[in-house]
Amino acid sequence: MNEFGLIGAYFARPARKALLGVGDDCALLAPPTDEVLAISVDMLVEGRHFFSGTDPRSLGHKALAVNLSDLAAMGAKPAWFTLALALPRVDEAWLAEFSSGLFALADAADIELVGGDTTRGPLTLSIQVAGHVPAEGALRRSGAKAGDDVWVSGSLGAAAMAVRHRSGDVVLPDEVLAHCAGRLDWPMPRLALGAHLRRHASAALDVSDGLVGDLVHICEQSGLGADLDWECIPVDPALQGIPEAQRRLAALSGGDDYELCFTANPKERQAIEVLSLSLGLPLTRIGVMRPGAGVTLRDINGCPVETGRSFDHFSSP
Ligand code: ADP
Ligand code: MG
Repeated sequence: MNEFGLIGAYFARPARKALLGVGDDCALLAPPTDEVLAISVDMLVEGRHFFSGTDPRSLGHKALAVNLSDLAAMGAKPAWFTLALALPRVDEAWLAEFSSGLFALADAADIELVGGDTTRGPLTLSIQVAGHVPAEGALRRSGAKAGDDVWVSGSLGAAAMAVRHRSGDVVLPDEVLAHCAGRLDWPMPRLALGAHLRRHASAALDVSDGLVGDLVHICEQSGLGADLDWECIPVDPALQGIPEAQRRLAALSGGDDYELCFTANPKERQAIEVLSLSLGLPLTRIGVMRPGAGVTLRDINGCPVETGRSFDHFSSP
């Protein structure tokens, strides 16, 4: 099978939303005239972002999910994506599974593959997503105000524990591992939440590198600090049996959660609680934005809690 046979068999599908999709030199796209484009790209490298031998169906899902999570964090509606793929060899069973995981999520999120690039090389998956959002409604990191509540969706820490198990750092009981691996391999981008938050939140981002480190970005771009309560952090209930210090690090700086962290004026509390019920997704108030800089975390006695360091590809050990 050659390059074009491979693209035709596994990635070319008829265009629905694009004026022109896979097969020409460029795709042709027309966003709604009253909205702006939201663009983001993320790369997954074997041995770096995922373990060798990871189920290809979950890789197809996750490569797209992490990008959709960025659109969700912006409050944007997904529309199109491109896929750059480096493959060590043509493995048709692998490609079939990868593309089925990819398109299952693409269909669920109503986003269309419109082009890409395919080359031989160390297994690397890079997806660029494009969505659209009303310019004034986009959820920027810079919009938080002093006195705003800090919120986070869902629960935190499970994916990070799965990484630690697979790295041989800890051994999780089977049922706990099954849950944590599900969170790591099959993240669900919070698209519906992001779209609704355009009406309620002042700033938002997705939690990919770890809650505290990610919240620092909102702090820096909004020119503020944040105070969080450890007792309020929604640590995944599956981690209950794990020692406190490990649960803290997993939930606060573990990363790979793909939840949304956002800020909102306290007068939005009731609307956000109603939204949580209607989406069937826990939304938890974890702290408050304040003048100053940095994120501090306190326990029930007001004592500072160690937050750990968020993931950084280029930090020195
Ligand atoms: P060009 O050389 O003009 O950049 P290519 O030969 O790389 O084009 O690709 C041919 C067509 O197939 C283009 O429309 C490109 O967008 C598409 N394509 C290539 N790889 C992929 C892929 N992995 N998924 C989807 N479309 C792809
Ligand atoms: Mg060309």
